[in-house]
This record gives sequence, C-alpha cells and structure tokens, in this order.
Amino acid sequence: MTASVEFRGLRRAFGRTVALDGLDLVIEPGEFVALLGPSGCGKTTALRCVAGFERPDSGAVLVDGKDVTNVPANKRDAGMVFQSYSLFPNLNARDNVAFGLRVRKVPADARRKKADELLELVGLPTHADRYPHQLSGGQQQRVALARALALEPSVLLLDEPLSALDAKVRVSLREEIRRLQLDLGITTIFVTHDQEEALSVADRVAVLRAGRLEQVGAPAEVYDRPATPFVAEFVGTMNHLAGQLSGDHVTVLGQLLPVDGPVPADPSVDVLVRPEAVQVVPDPEGRAEVVAASFRGASVRLRLAVDGGEVLADVPGHEAARLGAGTRVGVRLVERPVLVAARTVTAPAPVVAADAV
Ligand code: ATP
Repeated sequence: MTASVEFRGLRRAFGRTVALDGLDLVIEPGEFVALLGPSGCGKTTALRCVAGFERPDSGAVLVDGKDVTNVPANKRDAGMVFQSYSLFPNLNARDNVAFGLRVRKVPADARRKKADELLELVGLPTHADRYPHQLSGGQQQRVALARALALEPSVLLLDEPLSALDAKVRVSLREEIRRLQLDLGITTIFVTHDQEEALSVADRVAVLRAGRLEQVGAPAEVYDRPATPFVAEFVGTMNHLAGQLSGDHVTVLGQLLPVDGPVPADPSVDVLVRPEAVQVVPDPEGRAEVVAASFRGASVRLRLAVDGGEVLADVPGHEAARLGAGTRVGVRLVERPVLVAARTVTAPAPVVAADAV
C-alpha cells in the first residue's frame, strides 16, 4: 500500500506567473521526500497536482506508474495535510478523522474503530470527543494527519504542516511524522521552505527553483555537495569570500584550494564556504578578530572581522571561552574543494552571506 510518484515535465502557469516550468522528479515507493525552495518556487502547486486540486498545463503526474493527471481529486489515492489546520469546526476529533470513511459509506462501528485507532496512532487516544477549538495547534495537526491517513492512501501529501506551530512543537511533531511514516512505509511528499526541517526528516531533499528541480539528493549530499550556488545558498549558511581563480584552483584568504563544479569566466569570484569549514585559533598575530560570538548549543558561531569584511565560523562550544569578542585569531579553511560563483560583491575582502547570524 505504497506507491511511486513521478512528476514528468510538469508545467503550470497562472496568467504570466509560471509556477511549474517543466518539473521532473521521481519519488520511490515508501520514500519521504521534502520539496524545498523559496516562496513562490512552485512547491505547493506541485503537491496540488498530485492531490488533483490542480491540473498542469502540460506534463503528467504518475502514481504507481499510472498517469493520474486527469483523474479527479476524490478518485485519487492520496491524503493531504494543509498548513492551516482545516478541520471541520463542528465535528469532534473522531468525526473529523472518520469523515472520509463516512463519505465512502463505511458502517458507523467500523468508522469509529478506525478513527480511534488512528487517534491512538497520532498520540491522541483521549481526545476523540474534543472539538477543534478545544485542541492546541499541534493536536489539531495530529488530527488532520489521522484524517489524511484514514482512507489508507498510498501517498501522503504534507503542505507546510508545521509552519503555524511554535518551535518546540514543530520539532517534536516532525519527528513523530517521520516515525509514523517509517512505521507505515507510506510514500510522503513534504513541502517546506525550512531547510533545517527538510534536512532533518527526509530521505531525499528536492530543491526547487522557479518551478524546476535544481537538485535532489540525500540531506547530507545536498548540504555537503550542493550542485549549484543556488542550492549552496539556500541550504544552510554560506560565507561569500573574495577569491582569485587560477586554472582549477582558487586563492582565498591566502590559501590555494581546488575548485569543485563550474568555473565562471571572470577569475575574480566569490568562494562559497560553510561556517563549519572555517577553522579558528587564537593568535595575537592573526589576520582576524572576533566581533561577536553567539551560543548555539553544541557549537558557537563566531562573527569575525577579516581584511575589512566579515566571515562566520562555527567552532565547538567548549572553545568559546578562549574566543571571546576582541580576540585576535588566525583563520584557516578546511582543505577541500570549494564551490565558486560569479563575483556578487565589489569589496576586496570577504563578505558574509545575507542570512547569517
Ligand atoms: P510558498 O512557500 O510561498 O507557499 P510555493 O513554492 O508553494 O510558495 P506556489 O504556491 O506553488 O509556491 O506558487 C508558485 C507561484 O504561482 C507563485 O508565484 C504564486 O503566486 C502563483 N500561484 C499559485 N497558485 C496560484 C493561483 N491559484 N492563481 C494565481 N497565481 C498562483
């Protein structure tokens, strides 16, 4: 009871806005894939095409190898959870979960049994008689999840299901969704614009840009080996450091590193470096100075002033004490191939990415 999902050359425009511009992606049975990308890149439209709420202008959606592009939503084998809780306010939790079963004329006893089983599955065994307004946001989303699973769909579609919840509930519920998904083995497509969320729960992350697939891969792959500067920028934090190309190497912060991926024509480039790839040691003669340190649990993020620009560095938490603001430090980049992009800044010095501290 699980199915593959394939987006094949999917295109959908709304007037002059192109939401999907030839999306190609294959999701294996039982896989949990996160669709990740900035606002407006077409994630929700792609999901709605699987649910049947949206028809593409061209291209096809295949579920379990069958073309369902023209199959109406109520005939598709998919359950969906939306960003807003979207429960029926006049029905209690049990009746919300059982709604689809009632539409399918399942007898009352069997409906009740199934709904109670599902409420138990999502951790709400004692909340069946409560109405939506008597449930917290997280509990409402659990009910919505149970409702989506009631008809035993072979595909589960989650459209930013956690974005209205507070941070702590978000994390616990996403872990629970993942546990449930693994238990049931249900193919799941999870739309989010939150990269940490995508990386932490998905088998594979599909990064969308302007209605097309930019990269798809396991979380570690997308993070460690971003295929393009766009992915590198969108997934995680990146320093942009001024560099000078020579052949397939680049000089950056006085170091010569091999270049990974495409090389722009102009030898003056931005070198993209993760904060954790910047190593810092106290050094009175060092070229950098710690401007600020922010505690992040296991690590500390340092903001460094280097040659008139700024660089972010993540160091282990226990090193923070000797790397307080004002400390002179030496900076070294981890020796490994780096991505470069056409220069976006004119400053001679390193410049930190926008979404930084
Ligand atoms: P977000 O994270 O903001 O929800 P998204 O990646 O899910 O974004 P979509 O909702 O798929 O993006 O929208 C893609 C583009 O299509 C956007 O520019 C959006 O404004 C436009 N769009 C989507 N649905 C419609 C519609 N029904 N009518 C007009 N334009 C639409």
